[in-house]
Amino acid sequence: MAAPPLKLKPRIIYGPVNSRRLGSSLGLNILPFRYKACPFNCLYCQYGFTGARGYTLSLEEKELPTESDVTRALEEALIEYPLVSYLTFSGNGEPTLHPQFSRMVDAVKHVRDRVNPEIKVAILSNSALVGIEAVREGLRKLDIRYMKLDVGDEELFRRFNRPHPEIDYETILNGLKSLGDITIQSLFAGGPNGNAGEKAVEAWISRIAEIKPRECHIYSLDRPAADRTLTPLYRDDLEKIKYQAEKLSGVTVKVFER
Ligand code: SF4
Repeated sequence: MAAPPLKLKPRIIYGPVNSRRLGSSLGLNILPFRYKACPFNCLYCQYGFTGARGYTLSLEEKELPTESDVTRALEEALIEYPLVSYLTFSGNGEPTLHPQFSRMVDAVKHVRDRVNPEIKVAILSNSALVGIEAVREGLRKLDIRYMKLDVGDEELFRRFNRPHPEIDYETILNGLKSLGDITIQSLFAGGPNGNAGEKAVEAWISRIAEIKPRECHIYSLDRPAADRTLTPLYRDDLEKIKYQAEKLSGVTVKVFER
């Protein structure tokens, strides 16, 4: 049976979360606690649809954790969990929306270096703001960048990820190319509104060949999607996408069940 939709994180630090991709990871939520803040409104979002308040390109700092809030919360959590493998910016939407994102990365790395320099600092980002140089500057400071790219063209991007009107696919594509050393993460879903049709997959593979990420991680739904017409893909379907993508792009693709 599918798991229920996710609840928003009511705090800065959550977990440790154990995932096949990241092992043991403490999540860092530098976004509002009471609503999802995301410039996308993906049909498959596990938090449900993005509300009007959080569907934005900028957030007011007074609604957000400060650098000292994050430092304090992380220091406390690492007393209990000093041996986690990752500290991962993720949480209630898109972490790079925080206006002080780059400084937040510095603060987290500073605590990490004091407690256990072996821990990697990572991000799960939807790539929405990767076209902005100040955001790329923060992203480059991280040890690992998991960047979302589910589709290969503007038209499906608008239907599937439903970005804020001021965000366009080409800017994201160029931002990802100039960032370098990234892992692309892509969710594939079936159904009339999905992104797993032959043409959609071919277009996605072409973009992967252009970006040349370190590798791609692909997966499907494991929770009810915001749009209930979407259907999960079977492992065999994901393996076919992997085979085709590796053959045509030369990029290593890994299939994950989330
Ligand atoms: S990018 Fe993530 S948080 Fe934002 S709407 Fe899509 S799935 Fe939800």
